[in-house]
Amino acid sequence: MSRYTGPSCRLCRRAGTKLFLKGDRCYSEKCAIARRNSLPGQHSQRRAKFSEYGLRLHEKQKLRRFYGMTERQFERFFEKASRMAGQKGHNFLQLLERRVDSVVYRLGIASSRAQARQLVTHGHITVNGKKLDIPSALVKVGDVIAVAPNSRDIPTIRENLEVASARAIPEWLELNAERMEGRVVSLPTREQIDVPVNEQLIVEYYAR
Ligand code: SF4
Repeated sequence: MSRYTGPSCRLCRRAGTKLFLKGDRCYSEKCAIARRNSLPGQHSQRRAKFSEYGLRLHEKQKLRRFYGMTERQFERFFEKASRMAGQKGHNFLQLLERRVDSVVYRLGIASSRAQARQLVTHGHITVNGKKLDIPSALVKVGDVIAVAPNSRDIPTIRENLEVASARAIPEWLELNAERMEGRVVSLPTREQIDVPVNEQLIVEYYAR
């Protein structure tokens, strides 16, 4: 299945929560969820009651859209999490957070995950001093994620980092905005992963 290229706010309205897909707009009063949290389309007032299955599907779709992944990529990550020791749901969220595009977004180098993915694929990001252009690559503790030397004058990145310095960076990451780089201090605990989902429902969805 190809990546969704339609209106982003529609996805948030469908999910019924902010998925932070549009950069700075998501933090402003222009956000569609902040203005009017209703379903998209003609019957926008009617939020259907979910069946057991529907509820799990809804939760899975919400998380998949949050990270902007295709169904196949998302399933692959879940399979990887299932093979790991420990709680499947937490492992899954941790793997999603460890994606280099997600870390670039969390550090504030990009204003959205979509922009982060583009920065990575266009070769603007290095990990431990080496260019890395695979958005799904996983970072580990101690890795240094930085803006590539030739990309440091890109105005969008500079502006993003200015805004990021004023926002809270997750505790498991460390940002040095001046050097345009961040470091993975530890792996994120569940409390440090700010995603509006019940991951247990997603585990149950895939267990069906
Ligand atoms: Fe649109 Fe962002 Fe608000 Fe979602 S969180 S509705 S993408 S502005």
